[in-house]
Amino acid sequence: MKITDRHKPASEILMSPAEVERNRLLAEMAEQSTDMISRHSPDDWCFIDVSPAVTHLLGYSVDEIVGMSAYELYHPDDVENFKRRAPSVSYERGLYTHTYRFRCKDGHYTWLESTSRTIRDPHTDELKEILVVSRDVSQRINTEQANRRLARVLEHSSDLVAFVTPDHRVSQLNEAARDALGLEVDDYDLPLNRLFTPDSYAVLQQQALPQARDRGSWRGEAQMFSRRQQRAIPVMLEVLAHRTLDNQLEYFSTVARDMTVIKQAEAKQQQYQQEIDHAARLITMGEMATGLAHEINQPLTAVVNYVRGIQRRLQTDRESALEAIEQPLEKIANTALRAGEIVRQVMDFTRKSEPERELLSLTTLVNDLLGFCASAAKKHHVQLENNLPRALPEVYADRIQLEQILLNLLLNGIEACHREGHQSPLKVWLEASTDQAGQVIISVLDQGPGLPADPEQLFEQFFTTKADGLGMGLAISRTLIERHGGQLQAENRPAGGAKFSFTLPAAE
Ligand code: ADP
Repeated sequence: MKITDRHKPASEILMSPAEVERNRLLAEMAEQSTDMISRHSPDDWCFIDVSPAVTHLLGYSVDEIVGMSAYELYHPDDVENFKRRAPSVSYERGLYTHTYRFRCKDGHYTWLESTSRTIRDPHTDELKEILVVSRDVSQRINTEQANRRLARVLEHSSDLVAFVTPDHRVSQLNEAARDALGLEVDDYDLPLNRLFTPDSYAVLQQQALPQARDRGSWRGEAQMFSRRQQRAIPVMLEVLAHRTLDNQLEYFSTVARDMTVIKQAEAKQQQYQQEIDHAARLITMGEMATGLAHEINQPLTAVVNYVRGIQRRLQTDRESALEAIEQPLEKIANTALRAGEIVRQVMDFTRKSEPERELLSLTTLVNDLLGFCASAAKKHHVQLENNLPRALPEVYADRIQLEQILLNLLLNGIEACHREGHQSPLKVWLEASTDQAGQVIISVLDQGPGLPADPEQLFEQFFTTKADGLGMGLAISRTLIERHGGQLQAENRPAGGAKFSFTLPAAE
C-alpha cells in the first residue's frame, strides 16, 4: 500500500482521470524519495502514514512506526522547544522548517530537518493533518559544529591569525591579531601592507605569498607592525594557501606567533652569558695572578741580567764592549716583547667579548698553557705531563675561551692532587685523540681523590667543595664548550683519580 492510498481523502473520488494520474505519479515519487514523507494527526503528532524512507532514516518499518507519536521520539531537549513552536507552525503560517534530534529504533539520535505543512478541509477550514518532509542532516550539523569549534579556537588562539584575499587584502583577523596590531573588529578589507613593516611586506610579496601559492605553504620570520604602539612585533609566520574544489586560489591565511618575549629572553640570556664569561675570566684571573707574576718576573729578571752584563762590559773595556752589546740588546728587546705578549694575553682573557673563532693548533696552545700552570703545579707539588699525540688535527675555536677551559681543568686537577712537599708528587696530564665522527677528544686526567659527587652535580653553578671556591669554573667551561658544538663530561678513572673530557669539532 502506498502513502497516498491509505486513508484516501473523499475528495479524490471526485477527481478527473488526469488528476488521478498526477496523484499516482506524485505517490510514486514519494515512495522512491530518500526524504521521509509522513502524515501526522494534528493533536498528538501520531504517524498516520510514512514513506519507506523511514526504514533507512530511522530503522523502523512503516508498520512499526504508524500509530506512534512523534513526541515520543524527539530528543528530550528538543520536545519543549518544538511544543512551543507547534502552534505557530500549524495555525499561523502553515509551513515551517526546523532542525531537531529524533530517536532511531536502535536508540541513537539523528539530526533531521523537517518541513511541515498543515492540510485543511477546503470547505470547513478544519485542520485535518500535518504533512512533513524530513531529511537526515547529521553530517551537515556535525560539520557545522566542528567548524564552529574550530572558529572558536581560531578566534581565541594566542597566535595572530589573518585571512587574506588573493589580491592582498585582509578580510578577517582574530582577536589576538586585532589586539596586537591595534585594530577593531570592523577593520576589515585592509591592504596587507598595513599589518607588516615595509621590509617584511616586501618579503611577503616576493617570497612568502608566491611560494605558498606554488607549494601550499611558507614559513619564516617576519616583523608585523602595531600602529597603536608604533612598534614592530617579531613573529614566526606561517602562510597557507587555500584553494577551491576546482583548484582556484581562494585566499591565504597567515598565522603569526609573537616572538617578542622569546626574543627579549634570548637577548637577556646572551647578556647574562657575557656577564658570566666576564666574571669567570676575572675569577680565573685571580687564580692566575701567581702564575702571571712568575711569568713576568722571568723576562724582567732576564732583561735586568742582560743590562747588568752590558754595564759591566762597558766599565771594563769600552772599545770591544760596543761591538759585543748588539746581541744582548736584541735579547733585551725580544724578552721585553715576550713580557708584553703575556700581559696582552691576560688582558684579552679579562676583556668581555663575543667568541672569535680561528684555526688553532692544540699542540702549541697546550704547550703555552702548561708553561703557564708550571708555577701552580710546583706550589702544589704536582707533576704536569703533556701526553698529546704528535699529529692532531687543528680545531676551529676561540683561543681565549679554549685556554680558559683548559686552564680551569688543569688548575682543578692540580688542586685535587695537592700534596705536602716531602711526598712523591701526584700526576696531572693531558691526552687527546680523534673519533670516527671527526671530533677531537681532549682529556685532563689526574691521580687525585676522584670526584666528590655525582659527575653532573659538579657542573651545576656554585657547586664547590673548596673553602674559597666559587663553583663556577665547570659550569662556565661546559657552556663554552657547548657553544663550540662540543660536550664536556667528568668521570672517575678506574685506577683512581678524575678524568674530564671534552669534544671539539676538528677543522676540515
Ligand atoms: P671551584 O673550583 O671554584 O670549586 P669548579 O666548578 O671548577 O669550581 O669545580 C666544582 C667542584 O668540582 C670542585 O669544588 C671540586 O669539588 C670538584 N672538582 C673539580 N675538578 C676536580 C678534580 N679534578 N678532582 C676532583 N674533584 C674535582
